[in-house]
Amino acid sequence: MERTFPRNLTAYGAISTEHGRAMTTFYCPKCWKELREDVEICPYCGTNVTETWSSMSYEEKLVHALNHPEPTTVMRAAWLLGEKRVKASVPSLLRLTEETKDLYILLEVTRALGKIDTPESRQALKRLAHHPARMIAREALRSLQKTGVDRTIKKSS
Ligand SMILES: [Zn+2]
Repeated sequence: MERTFPRNLTAYGAISTEHGRAMTTFYCPKCWKELREDVEICPYCGTNVTETWSSMSYEEKLVHALNHPEPTTVMRAAWLLGEKRVKASVPSLLRLTEETKDLYILLEVTRALGKIDTPESRQALKRLAHHPARMIAREALRSLQKTGVDRTIKKSS
């Protein structure tokens, strides 16, 4: 069953289009338990679901979604954060590189860190370049080389 972001997260519409009209599951933003679509208050932890989501900016929602229990959602969030070069998300992405045991999440996070060029992300990429999984190490190296090239182009032009 394909799970996407909840509908009331405006960010999610764009993210879920690649999977078309897949089955949608809604989650509490606090405890991440599955919810019925129409609930306003989470029956498990009492969080006001609608209010919590609407109090967050688009970028905050994406950062928050890095904690989502569904790997595909985490990967989409990481991808979007990379595309949008959200520097504020770097600490959360770094934490994910240490905590996740999912190599596909790690790969997407590595890509995102490659796009968001900060001293911290670069530091993480140097560490990830020694990752035992070759696809991670290769992606980290590629990102490091790319940022190097970008710098050269900027300087010479
Ligand atoms: Zn809850």
